[in-house]
Amino acid sequence: PSTHWIYAVLVAVMFLDLAVIRHLFCKYMCIYRVWQHMFKTRETLHVAYDTARASECAHCRYCEEACFLELDPKRTFEYDSCINCGECIAACEELHAKSRKYAPPGLLRFALGPDPRAQTDGRLRAASLRGRIKAALIGAAAGFALFAVGLAGYAPHQLIVDHAEAQAGMLSDYRVMVRHKLYRPARFELSVAGLDPRWWRLDATTLTLSTAGRAETRLHLSPAMPKGLHRIVVRAQADDGWSGEFVIMHYAGGGDGRAQGSHAGQNRVGKNP
Ligand code: SF4
Ligand code: SF4
Repeated sequence: PSTHWIYAVLVAVMFLDLAVIRHLFCKYMCIYRVWQHMFKTRETLHVAYDTARASECAHCRYCEEACFLELDPKRTFEYDSCINCGECIAACEELHAKSRKYAPPGLLRFALGPDPRAQTDGRLRAASLRGRIKAALIGAAAGFALFAVGLAGYAPHQLIVDHAEAQAGMLSDYRVMVRHKLYRPARFELSVAGLDPRWWRLDATTLTLSTAGRAETRLHLSPAMPKGLHRIVVRAQADDGWSGEFVIMHYAGGGDGRAQGSHAGQNRVGKNP
């Protein structure tokens, strides 16, 4: 099955994020953030709030406004999902640099080593643990969902039809190929529908494989076939019950005695036994 819908969904989500939601990507999908979060330890650089100077906090919330992850920088410690961008520190320092009342800066700062609050504040530790469990559960659920989608769409075989010969824009033959993905023998019966048997010929109507691999044959179209657009369906029926089909839109020029023109392939989902 085509996987183009995945790109369509991603593009739609990104446009929606840029236009409406803002920073959804940063919060939930950014690989850098997840990567950084995974390797945080108690010794990792983090944003620290000087609780001894809490009375100097103006409660202006500039730091919270500056945080695009919507964290409260006064409550971050080493296991939070802060990415250490420093925007909150810059916002707080700007306020303190301008103010006589709240000087000197440093209420929010970068620090290394364990944050004392992480040792003493059970609520912070519990919130951090909850956050990590939630992230792990969401990641596991997404992984299982992708695995289930992949499993549901898995086909043991695949039928492909493409150009075999294209000389000076003239098409007359097609390559018909089956892919066999299992390590056991397989046999495929090929057939063509949608076109009078006078106008086509398959080099082989049976393809056999002793193990995983691919096998191919040629579909020849008659140069004398009627002018116009022809919808040709190539089918493959495997001995294990799987069947697949491939639709070709072939334009025959006629008149000059040669089949010519465009080919548009459409691979249809094979049916599993
Ligand atoms: S360093 Fe950046 S991500 Fe971390 S709390 Fe401050 S503004 Fe938010
Ligand atoms: S920006 Fe600084 S002063 Fe303002 S609320 Fe945040 S920590 Fe307090």
